Amino acid sequence: MRETPVGTNDSAVVIGAGIGGLLAARVLSDAFPRVTVFDRDELPAATVPRRGVPQGHQAQALLAKGCEIVEELFPGFTDDLVGRGATALDIQQDARWYFGGRLLRAAPSELRALALSRPLLEGYLRERVAARTGVQINASSEVVGLLAEESNRSVRGVRVLRGGAEQDFDADLVVDASGRGNRGETWLRSLGYEPPQEERVEPKLAYSTRQYRRPPGDDTEPVIVNATVTCPRGGIAVWAEGERWLVTLTGMGDDTPSADPEEFTAFAADLAKPDIYHLIRRLEPLGPPKRMRIPASVRRRYERLRSLPDGYLAFADALCQFNPVYAQGVTVAAAEAMELRHCLAQGRDKLAPRFFKAASKVIDAAWDMSVTGDLAYPGVVGQRTGRIRFINGYLDWVHAAAETDSVVGNAFLSVANLMTPPQFLFSPPILGRVLRRRIGRGTGARPVATAGITE
Ligand SMILES: Cc1cc2nc3c(=O)[nH]c(=O)nc-3n(C[C@H](O)[C@H](O)[C@H](O)COP(=O)(O)OP(=O)(O)OC[C@H]3O[C@@H](n4cnc5c(N)ncnc54)[C@H](O)[C@@H]3O)c2cc1C
Repeated sequence: MRETPVGTNDSAVVIGAGIGGLLAARVLSDAFPRVTVFDRDELPAATVPRRGVPQGHQAQALLAKGCEIVEELFPGFTDDLVGRGATALDIQQDARWYFGGRLLRAAPSELRALALSRPLLEGYLRERVAARTGVQINASSEVVGLLAEESNRSVRGVRVLRGGAEQDFDADLVVDASGRGNRGETWLRSLGYEPPQEERVEPKLAYSTRQYRRPPGDDTEPVIVNATVTCPRGGIAVWAEGERWLVTLTGMGDDTPSADPEEFTAFAADLAKPDIYHLIRRLEPLGPPKRMRIPASVRRRYERLRSLPDGYLAFADALCQFNPVYAQGVTVAAAEAMELRHCLAQGRDKLAPRFFKAASKVIDAAWDMSVTGDLAYPGVVGQRTGRIRFINGYLDWVHAAAETDSVVGNAFLSVANLMTPPQFLFSPPILGRVLRRRIGRGTGARPVATAGITE
């Protein structure tokens, strides 16, 4: 059944009430009196994972830059979430980081993060967005197509399937934040437009996450064992609200972690460092591991399209989905939201090309880091230019220096947390420290003691 069009006056529609969609809705609500968000999922009141966002079971980090932007968009964010059981961390001081099998030297820093589950973060943002004047979030409402003017020159709304019937919603702007499975390409084709060119890297990644009880008084710090070229298995063990540990193991290609509890533990034993293995052996599990495959990272180059309909923006993962091990997705979505806010403040004329151009600048550094990092692994197919080989070689030196030099460690974490541009690692003060350490130690690798968590 097709219902009568619902006419609206100066309104925006957001497809998807994931974190990307919520961030977009937040900034749209400054510019449009009505913002309607549609999500095909039932949206649970409780902070539990849901079907449309399977990554909700996995451990996730919000980078320092993401925390900063989200705090700006939602004042009180950090304090509110700490009040709901998240823990505020100094990233360099309060967590153990292994890069290239080397322990980064801990030191007090200005880098702040929150340890929490993804459902808590999403649930909180949904609450704050829903409380904004003019915003309506509709669950169990699947967008099945775009509506366009007769000439197809501009999108004028969406067709929504809910309660078994189709209904058309007019809007002056449609923001597509429907995530990795988005149908932007098909929808653009149906309006007669070429879809954007895609760049893909396929690390053929899989995640498996198990929850454990965090015993009272347990002050073991979160630990992140990054995959290395010789051991492409990684792990992250972080606290979450509800006195829990979330432990995620990652692998690539044929060497991926299992959802079988015994195999999960055995996989952890073979990370580059044994800290996570020792940790989980003494913790009480709260259920079996949950597994998820993430085959590819995809960037869609909307900014290069010669012809685009007015009134349609792809946003967050629908625009670029990163390798999640670098934890960039939410932070880049937040940065895109700031760009969208800025573009809207300059008016609506040619909004799509202006937004895609601005977003591509935000995506550039993160995408470059993600692709360069992936191509360090021999199993990942892609063109290893001289620049990529040089950067990966230099990063190995940076990690070696960061074992003893907390200034270098801070520079690396600042770049990885998108607080500082990557070029900072090549600035004279940091380069000098990296080279001094390199010259001081000779070219042979010095064995690194595992300052591990012991049984
Ligand atoms: C395993 C994994 C781990 C990750 N870890 C991190 C991390 O540590 N840190 C980080 O910053 N990022 C991480 N990310 C990325 C992060 O989750 C996303 O970048 C971020 O949440 C933005 O996603 P999104 O809102 O664009 O899409 P999603 O979160 O996928 O949300 C899309 C929403 O759209 C809805 N939807 C889909 N189609 C339709 C439709 N047709 N109609 C209506 N609704 C629809 C879905 O139900 C869903 O709610 C991870 C991703 C994965 C897969």
